[in-house]
Amino acid sequence: MFESLTERLSQAFRKLRAPGRLTPADVQAGLREIRQALLAADVHYGVVREILARVEERAVGERVVESLVPAEQLLGIVRSEIARAMGGEAAKLRLSGRPAIVLLVGPAGSGKTTTAGKVARHLLRKGRKPVLVCADPQRPAAEEQLSALACRLEIPFVSAVGAPREDVERAAEMARRELRDVLVVDTPGPPPGVAPPPFVGEIAAAGGASDVLLVLDALVGQEAVRLGEAFVPVGFTGLVLTKLDGDARGGAALSLPTRLARPVVFVGVGERLDDLEPFDPERMADRILGFGDLAGLAEKLEEAGGERVAAVAARVREGSFTLEDFLTQIEAMSRAGPLDQLLSRIPGLGKFAQEGKIEDEFRRTRAIIQSMTVEERRAPHIIGASRKRRIARGSGTTVQEVNQLLSQYEQARRLVRGFGKRRMPPGWGGGPQATR
Ligand code: GDP
Ligand code: MG
Repeated sequence: MFESLTERLSQAFRKLRAPGRLTPADVQAGLREIRQALLAADVHYGVVREILARVEERAVGERVVESLVPAEQLLGIVRSEIARAMGGEAAKLRLSGRPAIVLLVGPAGSGKTTTAGKVARHLLRKGRKPVLVCADPQRPAAEEQLSALACRLEIPFVSAVGAPREDVERAAEMARRELRDVLVVDTPGPPPGVAPPPFVGEIAAAGGASDVLLVLDALVGQEAVRLGEAFVPVGFTGLVLTKLDGDARGGAALSLPTRLARPVVFVGVGERLDDLEPFDPERMADRILGFGDLAGLAEKLEEAGGERVAAVAARVREGSFTLEDFLTQIEAMSRAGPLDQLLSRIPGLGKFAQEGKIEDEFRRTRAIIQSMTVEERRAPHIIGASRKRRIARGSGTTVQEVNQLLSQYEQARRLVRGFGKRRMPPGWGGGPQATR
């Protein structure tokens, strides 16, 4: 997710970090590079201008330029402005009404039908009783695709392809009778730039949909803004950004909330029913800036179960974890889900996910840690040159690879400690998330 943007931004900050304190020229050069990184990631120029203007204003306001404060403060400002551009706070489904109606709209091929299934799965997890409704009379295969998903989720499916608006009303009556509390309604996707058929807007308005989610494909970049504008007359309440698992450059995630004035509620990160994540702007900003998402990782690992994993997750939150914990985590991850998704949450490891070297990397990491003594795993600072040579020999790797692992671990540990001690520098957004 966003690898090249992340790479460019962390490069810009690495350069800034070198002297520790910033001169005004450093700040200007840094801002220029951030600007170029955002534009190269296909972020809308208007959004880039807004982010940069706010960063500059705050940087000056918080006396970054004049009093030469550390680069961390500038990084903190950039982080919170990127989060702000993505909507600031996490948005949730409203789900009001009996049943609540969640309507999915969007251009053809953006992922509406797939997302309908994913949203139903998400609702089931939350203890809701969803019904999947197909209101797409245009594609004969649409019904089949959605009813197959309903079948897999073991929830009711209703076809509303005859007279969509009336059929949805009937589905709502049925839901009330059978005590189902949410209708997830799939609609047809018009070709790019074309408005959806009128009945879509009618269901949204007359049927009282509490949530109208505009589904857009992140792979099309800022073009998504134009595609989304065709749906303004329908009146959507939030966005779903799909295919973030592909090589999206990040432009859409950063441009859409501002340009379409609606929050991203979910992101799609794969083709499976489980591949939907609630969108949290602050966590996403962390991932874009290469900080990973350790809180999200801890949650995923806890979901995967296992007491040892839960204990590690707790230590991650406390801010202390050893190389042994690192190994436990890696082993748990093999069970917790697609490795690339999990890895992208660990600072510095996201790129391995992209390059398809995950399995190799895991095997090597495991071998290296297993070649260490218990003492070394608990206190890695005792590992000097001769121990490194022994570990490399024992694990069939090179000293360079041992060094690499130790510095990755060190990076993760420092970050975890920072979170644990709630030691964020001023300007890191300030909200409760910032002290995670
Ligand atoms: P619709 O025309 O808007 O209903 O789009 P579909 O739901 O039929 O999806 C179109 C294609 O995109 C299908 O092949 C889906 O499997 C794929 N797709 C949807 N969401 C995602 C996602 O988050 N990641 C990936 N990789 N593929 C997705
Ligand atoms: Mg469809």
